[in-house]
Amino acid sequence: MMDKKQLISIAVDGPVGAGKSTLCDALAEKLDILHLDTGAMYRAIGLYAIENKLPLDDEAVFEQAIGKRDIAVSVDYRDGAQLTYLNGRDVSQELRGEQVGAAASAVSRFPAVRKYLVAQQQQLAKERSLLIDGRDIGTVVLKDAKVKMFLTASPEERAMRRYRQLINAGKTSDYQTVLEDLKARDYQDANRATDPLRPAEDAIIVDTSGQSFEESLEEMLEIVKKAYDQS
Ligand code: C5P
Repeated sequence: MMDKKQLISIAVDGPVGAGKSTLCDALAEKLDILHLDTGAMYRAIGLYAIENKLPLDDEAVFEQAIGKRDIAVSVDYRDGAQLTYLNGRDVSQELRGEQVGAAASAVSRFPAVRKYLVAQQQQLAKERSLLIDGRDIGTVVLKDAKVKMFLTASPEERAMRRYRQLINAGKTSDYQTVLEDLKARDYQDANRATDPLRPAEDAIIVDTSGQSFEESLEEMLEIVKKAYDQS
């Protein structure tokens, strides 16, 4: 389907809990390209903020820290899996928690943070074929991507998936709280001034409500195949 020498860039955006991470992992594997999870990069800065007790509402603090190179985020791959580094330390295993996610959402509002990470993401996409997932990939990072998808599902379904994940991981959780947190994150991501979450005009909407994982994966694969077969 795809020419090995051709550089492939696929953009996938969508709100929290739409299944982006797992679906993109599986899709990238099927396409034999790497998956860049840009949320992990924002989470690394969120982790930095937590560890250094930085005020999450003070943009100047983050602007300075990035300007002075106190915060350096980088990405590497081992056996096809992404490793995310914060100031040279592999923090890949420390990024998943709710607290880090909330801090990531807060710092991702700041233009200085976005500018720093977007530049890196664009550089990575110049060097290799990537499937990139995030919130602003189709609208900012890979404006010219041949394939743009916007993955979504109803808030209730996304909250239920998240709730089940937490329960399966042995964490105590309450569906209503998960739903409210998710709606708050959606609101914050969609209403920030810089690069808010929205589908690119040329993005194909993939609504995973009521779909199994395999059905969503198949739909995404078909979209990619169609786009590349037409070229
Ligand atoms: O996708 P994930 O939940 O890991 O992302 C964490 C937070 O990082 C999101 O809530 C969002 O605010 C931010 N983010 C972003 N732009 C991206 C990826 C993530 O603003 N490209």
